[in-house]
Amino acid sequence: MRIEKEKSLHAYNTFGIDVNAKLFAVFRTVNDLKELLSDETLRHENRLILGGGSNLLFTSDFDGVVLKNEVYGIELLRNDPEHYYVKVGAGENWHQFVLHSIDQGWAGLENLSLIPGCVGASPMQNIGAYGVEIKDRFEQLEAVNINTLEVETFTKDDCEFGYRESIFKQSLKDKYIITSVIFRLFRSPQINTAYGAIEDKLEEMRITEPTIKNVSDAVIAIRSSKLPDPSEIGNSGSFFKNPVVTNEHFESIRAKHPNIVSYPSEPGHTKVAAGWLLDNAGWKGYTEENYGVHKDQALVLVNYGGATGSQIYELSSKIVKSIQDKYGIQLEREVNIF
Ligand code: FAD
Ligand code: NAP
Repeated sequence: MRIEKEKSLHAYNTFGIDVNAKLFAVFRTVNDLKELLSDETLRHENRLILGGGSNLLFTSDFDGVVLKNEVYGIELLRNDPEHYYVKVGAGENWHQFVLHSIDQGWAGLENLSLIPGCVGASPMQNIGAYGVEIKDRFEQLEAVNINTLEVETFTKDDCEFGYRESIFKQSLKDKYIITSVIFRLFRSPQINTAYGAIEDKLEEMRITEPTIKNVSDAVIAIRSSKLPDPSEIGNSGSFFKNPVVTNEHFESIRAKHPNIVSYPSEPGHTKVAAGWLLDNAGWKGYTEENYGVHKDQALVLVNYGGATGSQIYELSSKIVKSIQDKYGIQLEREVNIF
């Protein structure tokens, strides 16, 4: 396998940040990966596993080895009367896999259409959109243990999925490399259009009895109209998570801001739309030189070209402070910072 030195990562992160990796290698099989992990020159380097680079921000050159995951393959393992069990290589593009599953009549991923990135990163933060998270469609995954080089299997319970969370971002951070995921998809569609703007979009499309393809088309249309396309404007999607606060805290904020957008959460708690907090605090469209906050989506920080990761990180810190000062809420970054 080729190990490249001082490799530009500009094309490998959707924020379009121009930094270099000291070392860079691609793996296409689990054996390739094991070989790279046991390589004498790489063993003691810092490591970064890279999928589509759509959920990270580089604040400096990466002083270590970037291992780019290109493990491909989609295989229908088995069916039962209700489900299809599909094993997918971690390097497969997420959206292409969703489209493939729709073509095959494997239902359940349509609400997750047009999310950038690779299948292997999907369990990392339990990707979610429009009321569906991958934990709802997840059977198990395989990951290589970085210390032992053994392939281990993780069930749904093992993964400790939460809201944009999993064990791989917490206690097992940097300890495993996900190489494949098995999804449990439905033979009979369970159409879920209750979330966000899907119903309005289907009505506009004059569809009364939607198929999974119709739902996917609606989600694609909504996302394309609302979100900046990273191939045109650098971004990593929502920069912050939606905060969950106690009901008492929420009521004290609502007394001052009656229009606040919120949703029920776990008992005694309320989920607040972070996008609303930023918008109401005046951040939407905020621009500094060649970076800022997107004009339509306050949750999305953008690089109009040539910004550094540190500039964007500093902007995110200013936003965190302003939201803390205005509402007493500590925002948490969703994007992984390197
Ligand atoms: P990367 O950015 O390459 O990696 C993310 C993190 O996971 C890094 O820490 C990396 O080291 C680690 N990692 C990656 N692959 C592996 C692996 N195989 N094993 C171990 N660690 C690994 N997210 C949502 O949840 N919902 C959305 O609706 C959504 N919409 C988005 C819209 C836009 C326009 C953009 C730019 C992003 C959006 N995201 C969304 C965020 C992002 O697309 C997802 O988090 C996606 O799963 C990241 O995949 P990736 O392959 O690009 O990961
Ligand atoms: P939206 O539909 O305008 O909704 C704004 C926020 O309100 C969302 O964050 C969503 O929370 C929440 N929400 C909306 N309807 C809800 C309901 N019925 N029940 C509970 N919560 C509800 O959001 P949007 O910005 O256009 O995004 C649409 C979907 O795509 C959302 O699910 C969002 O998470 C996802 N998305 C994620 C990213 C990312 O990078 N992570 C980027 C773009 C879009 P949730 O976020 O908890 O769903």
